[in-house]
Amino acid sequence: LRRAETATFATGQRVPAILRPATRTEVQACLRTAARHGVAVYPVSRGRNWGLGSRVPVRSGCVLLDLGRLDRILDFDEEMAHVTVEPGVTFRRLYDFLRQRGSRLFLNTTGGSPEASVLGNALERGDGAGPYGDRFAHVCTLEAVLATGECVHTGFGRFGDGPLAPLHRWGVGPALDGLFSQSNLGVVTRMTVWLSPRPRSLQAVRFSIRDPSRLPGMVDALRVLRLDGTLRSAAGVWNDYRMLSARGPYPWVAAGGRPPLTRPALDRLAGEWGGARWFGLTAIYAASEEQAAAHRGEVERVLAPHVDRVYFEGLRGEPASGGELFGEDDPALMFLQGIPHEGSLRSMYWRKHDGAPATMDPEGDRCGVVWLCPTVPFSGRHISAAVVVAEDLMPAHGFEPLLAFVGQSERCLYLLPSIVYDRSVSGEDERAMACHDALLERYCRLGYLPNRLGIQSMEGLPPAKDDFTSLLRRLKEAVDPIGVLAPGRYDFRGRSDQDG
Ligand SMILES: Cc1cc2nc3c(=O)[nH]c(=O)nc-3n(C[C@H](O)[C@H](O)[C@H](O)COP(=O)(O)OP(=O)(O)OC[C@H]3O[C@@H](n4cnc5c(N)ncnc54)[C@H](O)[C@@H]3O)c2cc1C
Repeated sequence: LRRAETATFATGQRVPAILRPATRTEVQACLRTAARHGVAVYPVSRGRNWGLGSRVPVRSGCVLLDLGRLDRILDFDEEMAHVTVEPGVTFRRLYDFLRQRGSRLFLNTTGGSPEASVLGNALERGDGAGPYGDRFAHVCTLEAVLATGECVHTGFGRFGDGPLAPLHRWGVGPALDGLFSQSNLGVVTRMTVWLSPRPRSLQAVRFSIRDPSRLPGMVDALRVLRLDGTLRSAAGVWNDYRMLSARGPYPWVAAGGRPPLTRPALDRLAGEWGGARWFGLTAIYAASEEQAAAHRGEVERVLAPHVDRVYFEGLRGEPASGGELFGEDDPALMFLQGIPHEGSLRSMYWRKHDGAPATMDPEGDRCGVVWLCPTVPFSGRHISAAVVVAEDLMPAHGFEPLLAFVGQSERCLYLLPSIVYDRSVSGEDERAMACHDALLERYCRLGYLPNRLGIQSMEGLPPAKDDFTSLLRRLKEAVDPIGVLAPGRYDFRGRSDQDG
């Protein structure tokens, strides 16, 4: 129970009990019992929501509904490229499943834990590298249990397991999928996930700039390549702080033994990696060598004038059945191929004097990690304005500006400022949350609203300027009249609409 109350930042919530149902029928029984007794329950699939609350419920007193035992892969179709999973299926498990079958399909993976839930990540509208990286945009036929114990299916799923259920997103009539993602309106017990064919040619594209004033031009070039379809997958860009934090131990000597590592101190180290300030990674996924060559030419033409360095790495030809195009030793290349790995998780231990252990347990090891997820228009001007905010506020609160942003869609960037610290150092928890709150407030004021909330930020949004909140209130009352399911989770009912 104590572990269920522990995140990677300070929490005061108490968890009185943990329920571990193994079937949908047991989930229904749990919810009916909870409603009968007016006890709040909080579902998690795998609970690796690091930086955003781990397994900790938003409100104190919730019984944790741990869905990890619902871990079956219920259906798989190689030809039509889809798989149906329960909440406990992890990225690693699905990867192994496809590999063992020698499948020509793959699921893009996240920078998070290989033990995270595919379904949980999709419900949170998480993202991965590679085709179909906007995960929630590539799932269908959700099965959801309501707080009343009733069960509904989205899309064509309501007509049973017919041929269309795993293939068509919208079905016919109102599309209900969105009600169950980033919400507290149901417990999702299964979901169909679309898989993409492995590319016949995969080229990693790495690029970098030294002069930060080139950032806007680089970002605008990436948008052109995303919009015209040359790049079919996300482009990720990391600053030098973020890169350093994932690569090795904290530079205690350069920091004079005392964090934060200042910009002049980091600049003195910059010779070690050639002095680049921003590093980018994307890939060309192509069905043939000819297609890859054409796209590569286009990337060179559009991107090269705006960066200091762009280079391509790739293997050609058909991968062996179930094998990989690249080797499995470079985390960045594994990431692009959907191979789950722990490479970027080391950054959670950056400020720990002993570094990352072989088996990572960030909550137990008192790693401090607080994330926030501002959304920024895919434009050089906007991303520069958003970066300045973090570069200004994070050091002012005693933290390095660890920054990454991802062009997951054609029109928006997800900026990811990570506040990383050591929870064992007195006062750091409070400073980290003050930094989070200041960043969230500033980004909301600038219109760079978050696309995802952690338990620490559920109350941080500005009020709606229309009748959104009152509609949400009525929907919640209709499906959960006693209010037992995940109180406080994306639940803005406590707020009043501004002009509704
Ligand atoms: C270094 C680092 C890198 C990361 N990189 C990425 C990344 O690249 N992309 C990314 O998306 N995330 C990333 N994350 C964030 C996070 O680790 C992942 O999003 C992870 O997938 C979330 O954990 P989970 O899948 O176990 O979901 P869970 O913790 O199981 O679920 C998340 C939340 O969704 C709700 N929920 C879960 N299951 C259900 C259900 N069945 N019904 C109703 N509600 C439910 C719950 O409120 C739960 O708290 C990263 C984190 C770190 C620390």
